[in-house]
Amino acid sequence: MESRTFILKHKLPIARVEKYWKGLEEGKVYGTVCKICGAKYYPPQVDCSKCYNSEVEWVEISGEGTIECFTQLHSFPQGFEFVGRPYTIAIAKFGDFKVMGWYEGDIPKVGEKVKIKTGKDETGVWKVYFEPWGELNEHRL
Ligand SMILES: [Zn+2]
Repeated sequence: MESRTFILKHKLPIARVEKYWKGLEEGKVYGTVCKICGAKYYPPQVDCSKCYNSEVEWVEISGEGTIECFTQLHSFPQGFEFVGRPYTIAIAKFGDFKVMGWYEGDIPKVGEKVKIKTGKDETGVWKVYFEPWGELNEHRL
């Protein structure tokens, strides 16, 4: 035997950020804002790593986002083999929040405008998706 596959599973505690996961099912993407120092978190955190307080406000991230960077995956990381075709993961800025999501077009452009939305993938997991925002992009060109 020359090699052997190891399968790693990460189980992350989500009880304190359950609102985030519930939000995805309702089509909403939430971040948190520290009520003490104003730090903004996405993915949401309920403990501020800047001022160490645990008083946060949940805010919905919506509106127009701007693609900051992206990568297209042609070989699938473990657990994502189901996709079966190259897919694009992007980071888009919505105000002060930077959000990572699945881009729904072909190849995005840096600076392109996107809408944020949620959806279930083929395995039943809720995810964040970016939809190209047609009208605004036409104005940009
Ligand atoms: Zn804080």
